[in-house]
Amino acid sequence: MSGSILISGGTVIDGTGAPARPGEAVLLRDGRITALGTQAVDDAEAHGVDERIDATGRTVMPGLIDAHTHLTFGEPTGNDELFNHRTEAYSSMLSAYNARKVLRAGVTSVLDADCLWNIGCELRDAIEAGIVEGPRMRAGGQALMTMLGGTAGRMIKDEGRTGYATVVTGRDVMVNEIRRQIKYGVDWIKVMVTGLIPSMKGPEVKVWSFDELRTVCDTAHELNTKVVAHCRNSDSTRDAARAGVDLIYHASYLDDEAIEAVIEAGSAMCPTFTLLGNLADYGAKVGTAPELLDVFRAEIEVTAKQLTKAHAAGVKFLTGSETGFAVTPVGEWHARELEMFVDYMGMSPMEAIVAATRNGAFAMRMEDDLGTLEHGKVADVLVIDGDPLADVRILQQKDKIVEVVKAGKRIDLTTPIPEHKQRTSDQVRFLAACPLTRSLAFTEEQLERMSHV
Ligand SMILES: [Zn+2]
Repeated sequence: MSGSILISGGTVIDGTGAPARPGEAVLLRDGRITALGTQAVDDAEAHGVDERIDATGRTVMPGLIDAHTHLTFGEPTGNDELFNHRTEAYSSMLSAYNARKVLRAGVTSVLDADCLWNIGCELRDAIEAGIVEGPRMRAGGQALMTMLGGTAGRMIKDEGRTGYATVVTGRDVMVNEIRRQIKYGVDWIKVMVTGLIPSMKGPEVKVWSFDELRTVCDTAHELNTKVVAHCRNSDSTRDAARAGVDLIYHASYLDDEAIEAVIEAGSAMCPTFTLLGNLADYGAKVGTAPELLDVFRAEIEVTAKQLTKAHAAGVKFLTGSETGFAVTPVGEWHARELEMFVDYMGMSPMEAIVAATRNGAFAMRMEDDLGTLEHGKVADVLVIDGDPLADVRILQQKDKIVEVVKAGKRIDLTTPIPEHKQRTSDQVRFLAACPLTRSLAFTEEQLERMSHV
């Protein structure tokens, strides 16, 4: 058992969207929130507590939930490394090393929807068992792709399974692959609904038929498994929603028809602007072609404007970071999405916090149990030195995150995590290029290069 902690004196933002409450105590016992306010203080007086945290002048809020991470990718320097050089065992160890950084960034839960091999499920279980320190996880297996591939286009094989992807050709293969992943413990099935086609200029196009998406959703749902889809154009978002996809990533360039479909289906949205934002802001430093920087920024602006309508209509928004790539390193960018929701979608900081906490519980499939500071909920709590309602960017500053409590247990934030080097056998030919500069690129020259890798 985790013992008991009284956190007192702080301003509580409970994650429900209710106004902040100054000077409210929170009592944690055996991994749960058992009392708030004067009841918490009285209970602590009557029965004692193991630990006390003085949060005077600080903010007390739920742990962040990042609904779009790739911890098993281990910050690859290129697609070649990710697809061809990584071994399963080394990637597992790298994932375990990285998991601690996520937790220290105040992220107490993540959805790792597509993972190398089955590492996500194994990492989830190792964290749950106390073997590895990290955030609570929900995991998928290899991303499902059609023969057309996904963002990596022709770098994906025509058929069969690699660490990164599984190409499902035909209904039987599709159904069996979903059943296989479920057999080995996935919580979610991830589908790459859009991909890059070299002969078709411009952004990604839909590479799944509606009927295929229906088959995925029906098969997964029958076995109590949810479906998340990568959709970087409008008709993919529309079809995914109509087919029953539970959570949509990106939703780039969605039009009004797609918004209608999302609202009607009740799909949750995780646009993951952070990845594009990082590319737009820092892409030049990692070799992204200058003309692409504006493309990334435009994708955010156009998409965010449309998604604002979906938000106003009550669609559930979750925060995601794509953590695990070279431009979104582990433990660094998890809270940027809140800032982007405020800047690009006009959310209030409170709405962004709700997206990153209460709404994230949907990704964890723990909506009744997680994401808010309410009686009976799992005790995932942050103490922040400052007021995120005044400036939500404060959640990106690790020195302002003074306490991280996961399931009622205080996490060590001070012992340094040793630096690691990249092992030489993982290093690749295009070290100068970031993976996403190539994989998200649309120029003829880049596509040509990809097709020869
Ligand atoms: Zn992703």
